[in-house]
Amino acid sequence: MTSTAVRSPQRLPIDRPAPVTGSGIALRGVSKEYPLKRKTSLRALDGLDLEVAPGEFVALLGPSGCGKSTVLRLVAGLEEASAGAVDVEGRPPAQLAREHRLGVAFQEHALLPWASIRSNVALPFQVAGRPVDDRRVDDLLRLVGLGGFENARPKQLSGGMRQRAAIARALALDPDVLLLDEPFGALDAVTRRRMNAELARIWSEQQITTLLVTHDVDEAVLLADRIVVMTGRPGRVRYTCTVDIPRPRGADVTRTPEFHGLVDTLTAMLDSADETA
Ligand code: ADP
Repeated sequence: MTSTAVRSPQRLPIDRPAPVTGSGIALRGVSKEYPLKRKTSLRALDGLDLEVAPGEFVALLGPSGCGKSTVLRLVAGLEEASAGAVDVEGRPPAQLAREHRLGVAFQEHALLPWASIRSNVALPFQVAGRPVDDRRVDDLLRLVGLGGFENARPKQLSGGMRQRAAIARALALDPDVLLLDEPFGALDAVTRRRMNAELARIWSEQQITTLLVTHDVDEAVLLADRIVVMTGRPGRVRYTCTVDIPRPRGADVTRTPEFHGLVDTLTAMLDSADETA
């Protein structure tokens, strides 16, 4: 990080690293190369270290193309690192994915269009070959504010409601870890703000280890315990800070100097990311 790249660097919040516990999420020295044509490759990540402590909510910010989604796919066990180690709960992510202990929600909600909201939320039970726990499904539908919409089809719901259903589905099997990749990226600003408040409420009730990829600085500050900012590609951790704003963080928080100070600092850092990549 260059001192000129960030406004008022002396005001940067002090980082308190996540405790090393052997559980939660840990990426150590992770690099990822994607093979391209004619024996060339693209280095998406380069020596990335990142920890999310059990029960912690970490938001990952960074310029477009810096490797945020790659990090999430590695933690979800959908891809393998080219170098370094990725552990979730002290084990390889693919193993946890096979045991259905990772809850994943991406920008595209990917609900089955022909199935009811209830069936969509219950789907992970079927995928895992387990009997559907109807009470759990009811509780989740209530948790995400979709009680009364069980029989609706996805297209009968608003974008925000569909994303809430996707989050309920991600939580269906009571996962150890929740992975969210721009879950509200396709929503308008007002709905997105409402969904941020909903996610904060859901998270405060579950306190599940969560890694959120977002390009929205306000969203990161509203939701996260810690924020990790990545460099431009190849992605590494550039900066980490603890969000010392007490919860619950309602709409009034967004009007405080603490909120604005942190948002400004992080925005300036993202604006200057390409200079330091
Ligand atoms: P972000 O989420 O920060 O926008 P991504 O993780 O999607 O970034 O991508 C990081 C870089 O890796 C980008 O340059 C992207 O084009 C490249 N990339 C991602 N997936 C692949 C792939 N399957 N094959 C080749 N390049 C990829």
